[in-house]
Amino acid sequence: MTFLASGKVNYRARIERAALLAGRHEFAREILSFYGSIASFQREFYDSLPKLWGKQPLVSANGDLRSELRLILLLEPFSKFLKIVEAQAPEALAEESRNLQSKGSARQAEILQEFWKTGLLGASPLQATPFDDFFARAMLQPYADFVTGAMLPPTPIMTVCRCPRCNALPVLGVLRPEGDSGKRFLVCSFCSLEWEFRRILCAKCGETKEQQLPVYVAEQFPHIRVECCETCKHFLRTIDLTKDGNAVPVVDDLAAIPLSLWAEEHGYTRILSNLLWT
Ligand SMILES: [Zn+2]
Ligand SMILES: [Zn+2]
Repeated sequence: MTFLASGKVNYRARIERAALLAGRHEFAREILSFYGSIASFQREFYDSLPKLWGKQPLVSANGDLRSELRLILLLEPFSKFLKIVEAQAPEALAEESRNLQSKGSARQAEILQEFWKTGLLGASPLQATPFDDFFARAMLQPYADFVTGAMLPPTPIMTVCRCPRCNALPVLGVLRPEGDSGKRFLVCSFCSLEWEFRRILCAKCGETKEQQLPVYVAEQFPHIRVECCETCKHFLRTIDLTKDGNAVPVVDDLAAIPLSLWAEEHGYTRILSNLLWT
């Protein structure tokens, strides 16, 4: 029985998929090409970490991911990242990048630290903007990926609504082929771990009544399920790899912009937005 699927991020696959989908979907071209620059930066940063760190990180088997932040390794690459965003992002985000650069490294450190601790800046006393969430999340994802690479997998528990390794919210679901249907996993928004999750269960409020949990699939994206909950009015997007084995869940989700408009029109809120609010 599988409880956990690999949390290892394949940046190359993400970059290639983003380029492919950018060619396929006109409406997603700009955002996917921007995402391609983010993923390239993330890959390069991830690859540089063993050298920056000096050796493999040591985290005990039940170690606390959240105690492993080495700001000293992050500030220089972060400033590089902000410059990439300034050059490549849509204008509103480029402007925010200039803002954050002008505030200097003390403010940048504060944001990274707070995000690392809590996974969300919205409720912090920092007066952070949603853009700050984006900067911290994009920057810290490869770092979390690297640190968790040294950890043993967490005790497998099924059907928890938060990541069993780092307690962050899921950003997506994935259906992986198994038997004649598929097994559903949730994907952590922070450390990328996937953990098994029951098919008929709201990942927000725990609703289990099937009639309260409608699933919508648009003709345009036959491999993307919009899994809604009538009880709490939240939804989760699940990438169905039994329908398209070439999909790269995080990237296919970014491309599915029309599905967000649909959900908004129907009064559903996403449990947690993806990196670029698509
Ligand atoms: Zn996690
Ligand atoms: Zn619900």
